Amino acid sequence: MSVAAAPNRHDVIVVGGSFAGLSAAMQIARARRRVLVVDAGRPRNRFAAHSHGFLGQDGRIPQAITRIGREQLLAYPTVTFEHDEVVAAQSTDAGFFLTLASGARAHAARLVLATGVEDDLPTIPGLGERWGRTVLHCPYCHGYEVAGSTLGVLATMPGSVHQALLVADWGEVVLFADASFALDDAQRSALATRGVRIEAVPVLAMTTAVDGYETIVLADGREVTLSALFVATRTRPSSALAELLGCAFDDGPQGPVIRVDAKQATTVAGVFAAGDAASAMSNATLASAGGVLAGVFAHQSLAIPV
Ligand SMILES: Cc1cc2nc3c(=O)[nH]c(=O)nc-3n(C[C@H](O)[C@H](O)[C@H](O)COP(=O)(O)OP(=O)(O)OC[C@H]3O[C@@H](n4cnc5c(N)ncnc54)[C@H](O)[C@@H]3O)c2cc1C
Repeated sequence: MSVAAAPNRHDVIVVGGSFAGLSAAMQIARARRRVLVVDAGRPRNRFAAHSHGFLGQDGRIPQAITRIGREQLLAYPTVTFEHDEVVAAQSTDAGFFLTLASGARAHAARLVLATGVEDDLPTIPGLGERWGRTVLHCPYCHGYEVAGSTLGVLATMPGSVHQALLVADWGEVVLFADASFALDDAQRSALATRGVRIEAVPVLAMTTAVDGYETIVLADGREVTLSALFVATRTRPSSALAELLGCAFDDGPQGPVIRVDAKQATTVAGVFAAGDAASAMSNATLASAGGVLAGVFAHQSLAIPV
């Protein structure tokens, strides 16, 4: 039997209604449990016109994928969906009590945090407005569409060297690594082997060239024309909820991620997490897969309490 009793009481509240959250909620709905999904509507890929690599959905508008997911989820009678933001959470012996930005309150026996991350971009003029179009985070997501010409990689963190070595499979690569980014001999040798050119003069700005190409303007006045610039970003949690609830975090290569076990359980009893918020390796498919696990194990923790 469901633990739900009062109308605003749910078996599970899923915070975040994108790839991870909708996937989690689907499992809980199919287990005939009451699930509330609260979503603030700011998915990480909202800057991209198309999403790639998600099986059966390749090339679609990102919002179209989640809209279908939401519509299919809402066909289940035990599902409630709120366009709102969870702003506070309290853990008690009676479960979790959440406060939404609208002032509404909701409570549940279990929580799934699928709140995603935000990307902090370098403050180079012209770069931010191109994010998701010609400033890209991942070659598997968007490399195919820009392949075959000159591609840039902006050195922002140690992993940028790996990114440059990898992106060389999609085109001729220029690695923009100024003096603030130290490259050792082994890295220089590996980059040379992959044909990566290193540009050590700082990048001043990014502007539009002709025929869909972009221009990287260097501090000495030279310009480099390319079709896309790959940038590894620093990420931070989109929501403070995990921290508020006392969940432990691990340091990922790009930023903190909520610590979860193989069942997507966080270090706080009853709280599960999935998607980019809880994974150093991120894409829509992995977020969805993590959401499925979180939903399944949140349900099992209700059905078979230890
Ligand atoms: C520019 C760009 C393009 C990308 N392209 C691709 C691609 O082509 N293919 C691919 O596989 N991956 C792509 N990705 C990666 C992909 O977007 C993420 O891996 C995926 O969105 C993660 O899903 P998620 O559900 O974990 O988080 P998100 O999709 O980021 O969703 C989190 C949701 O939680 C909500 N939320 C956060 N806090 C709260 C709160 N307190 N209360 C209520 N709601 C809250 C947010 O508003 C958001 O709607 C791209 C990423 C970027 C940055």
